[in-house]
Amino acid sequence: MNIPLNRPFLPSKEEYDTYTNEIWQRNWLTNHGPLVREFENKVADFLNIPEFIFMNNGTTSLLVALKALDVKGEVITTPYSYVATTGSIVWQNCRPVFADINADTLTIDPLKIESLITDRTSAILATHVYGNPCDVESIGEIAAKHHLKVIYDAAHCFGVTYKGKSILQWGDASIISFHATKLFHTTEGGGMYSKNNSIMEKARYMMNFGHDGPYNFKCEGINGKNSEFHAAMGLCNFFHVTDILDRRKRQVNQYKGELENQLVEFQKIRKHTDPNYAYFPVIFETSDICSEVANQLADTGVETRRYFTPSLNRLSYIKEAGSLPVAEDISERVLCLPLFHELTSDEISYVCRGITKALKSRV
Ligand SMILES: *Cc1c(COP(=O)(O)O)cnc(C)c1O
Repeated sequence: MNIPLNRPFLPSKEEYDTYTNEIWQRNWLTNHGPLVREFENKVADFLNIPEFIFMNNGTTSLLVALKALDVKGEVITTPYSYVATTGSIVWQNCRPVFADINADTLTIDPLKIESLITDRTSAILATHVYGNPCDVESIGEIAAKHHLKVIYDAAHCFGVTYKGKSILQWGDASIISFHATKLFHTTEGGGMYSKNNSIMEKARYMMNFGHDGPYNFKCEGINGKNSEFHAAMGLCNFFHVTDILDRRKRQVNQYKGELENQLVEFQKIRKHTDPNYAYFPVIFETSDICSEVANQLADTGVETRRYFTPSLNRLSYIKEAGSLPVAEDISERVLCLPLFHELTSDEISYVCRGITKALKSRV
């Protein structure tokens, strides 16, 4: 057997060709073309939000969101996320201040935030980890009390709803990723949403060099645009989105069923959430057990990943982050198991048997 961690979803070549034929006819390859606009509208409809800005990746979207919200000084953030979350704060010349996570939900622990606020704090940047919503109510209250901006890294959250609404509706802005490894993708891609129209307008200028007509520049900007080819991939994947989401749910439920009596813990999903099953992380009792399981699985052709490792306070370019015991501990005990559209029920059973065997060999 050879079971990779991930395999990007691909629509049929024919589906993609209908769009590429259009692109060739029009000779309009990028710069807010018709397919990009169509894709933005489809995303907004699907997520039931008024508007969506499609950009070239999730990280650019994060940089644009930080800039559009004028985030400065210190940003309270989670140590348990992909490196892009911390990286964007540092890139923006801000200082990340880490608040530890809740061991059950794996999202930032609101009880750890307030004591870290100083007169230099301007924002909270938290991640909805593996698509599990943060405690958005508590974070919102803290932010309101201290006049902080809230940005959510919702890279994993395509299709996640909380209390019946897209999770992107919370905070001052949220970003999403459509990278090839994500549940729903455009090859490379991402975007942002803010319920504040003036922030959306500002972000639209900022992601297009600040252009206001050909010779006028309204503000500082970068190139955050995405192409017609990427939009075409997204539009094709929309034909399959329900199938993708349904199958993920079945796959994750099978994993849970086959592993529930084993010595592994699952992430606790927040109440009122309709998750998207984007990832399947399992947490082992100790880091030694975790490594041994990963090694034994690798020996039998199963790829897993300690996603997220390292805890981001341990990054080489982060100074004086202090210790974040929960995030550091979990990051050494977590494995994400293979999860992708074509993963079969037999393959899931094979992975689960491998885990069961590896755990048994230790007792
Ligand atoms: C994938 C990811 C990003 C970055 O998105 P890109 O589209 O690859 O730039 C940011 N944050 C998290 C949590 C991610 O998983």
